[in-house]
Amino acid sequence: MRNWAGNVDLGADPPARPRSTDELRRIVADSARVRAVGSGHSFSGVLSRGGTAVVLDGLPPVVEIDTAARTVTVSAGLRYADVAAHLHRAGHALANLPSLPDLTAAGACATGTHGSGDGRRGLAAAVCGLQLVGAQGESVELRRETDPGVFAGAVVSLGALGIVTRMTLEIEPSFEVAQSLRTAVPVAEVQDRFDDVFGAAYSVSMFTMWTDDAVVWLKRRTDRPAPEPDFGVPAPGPLHPVPGADPASCTPQLGEPGPWHERLPHFRAGATGPAGDELQSEYFLPRAAAPAAFAALRGLGGTLGPVLQVGEVRTVHHDDLWLSPAYERDSVTFHFTWIRDTARVLPVIAAVEERLAPLGARPHWAKLTAMTGPGIRSHYRRAADFQELRATFDPGGKFSNALLDDVFPAGAR
Ligand SMILES: Cc1cc2nc3c(=O)[nH]c(=O)nc-3n(C[C@H](O)[C@H](O)[C@H](O)COP(=O)(O)OP(=O)(O)OC[C@H]3O[C@@H](n4cnc5c(N)ncnc54)[C@H](O)[C@@H]3O)c2cc1C
Repeated sequence: MRNWAGNVDLGADPPARPRSTDELRRIVADSARVRAVGSGHSFSGVLSRGGTAVVLDGLPPVVEIDTAARTVTVSAGLRYADVAAHLHRAGHALANLPSLPDLTAAGACATGTHGSGDGRRGLAAAVCGLQLVGAQGESVELRRETDPGVFAGAVVSLGALGIVTRMTLEIEPSFEVAQSLRTAVPVAEVQDRFDDVFGAAYSVSMFTMWTDDAVVWLKRRTDRPAPEPDFGVPAPGPLHPVPGADPASCTPQLGEPGPWHERLPHFRAGATGPAGDELQSEYFLPRAAAPAAFAALRGLGGTLGPVLQVGEVRTVHHDDLWLSPAYERDSVTFHFTWIRDTARVLPVIAAVEERLAPLGARPHWAKLTAMTGPGIRSHYRRAADFQELRATFDPGGKFSNALLDDVFPAGAR
């Protein structure tokens, strides 16, 4: 069993696939070490396990909308694509989605996954309730209003506190989005006019090889007026983020309006297949560091070129979740889709980090990094509080793995 990219070995034993929460509780109670696997789209040790792996796609699918509370409660094994289609049919929406809707809500929120947009928070910030199975097989329920002391520590959890079985997410009325791309945008212009470019639509992403030009993807809500962008030129046809790749896997472009869940992700549900031919890394920096980070990466163009499929820049609104990489910081994110050659990619990741770390880079929990555990931990003001939470929920380390042991070793303060 391997992750989507094939770079993390998930062990030879087939995963357990419980058909009910009671069965899951028995599995957890009887296991010395256990870890949930979502859709396996992570690239880092966050997914590694030292014992039983549990996949939740056999639990009864639940999508319960509470119109008055403006929330939806979903079973944790569901993918965003399934939840979103159901919500849209009922006239509701989530505020944002990741680039690929095939990720499970539980796996994405556990790692601080995000989409893009100046006012858009990471996906975990929409979580207002969690049900999980704890280390003794007990059921635990946490809510934002009733558990204010721990809730903000329990959402971006890296799977350390238990196996999430249901999540309650904030929803809003459904909306339409039109996606259009601007090509031939000089990277230097985006660097100089960062707020103009990233403020030009509800959700904005910039793709570049960190040489001269960028392609800017604008996802505009049709119910909110937006002036015609004054940078670049309209793309003549649909494009894939990776230069020259077939755009058939991408969501509709060319300004054609459509439902939010079929435009906010870059890729169509199911279109990237069960296995991927790439590696990824990504860094969250304070938004104010964007010009300095652009300058640093433009200077690295020659080093990046041989192993980079494409780079992406996005913005994320801050939140209050202790382990969120956007914790207390409006952020700009620098993403790298690499070729799938770990030995050639790792030195380039180290070169990127040498330049971005002094600017306050927090690595994405689910993606590759050369940073050490203590280096990562130093970015999180509430790391000791999370460690305490972990010791309370899971004193025996049943849900631990190599990444958690590295970043949150026993006894660290
Ligand atoms: C093609 C592609 C596109 C991507 N796009 C984006 C993007 O736009 N933005 C972004 O930020 N990231 C992106 N990512 C990274 C991705 O969001 C993360 O890897 C995310 O964690 C994947 O979700 P998953 O369901 O595959 O979780 P997995 O990789 O299976 O698991 C991630 C973590 O969550 C834990 N977990 C899973 N389920 C549970 C549960 N029920 N209870 C407790 N813990 C659980 C796992 O143990 C693991 O620690 C992308 C990755 C790929 C391959």
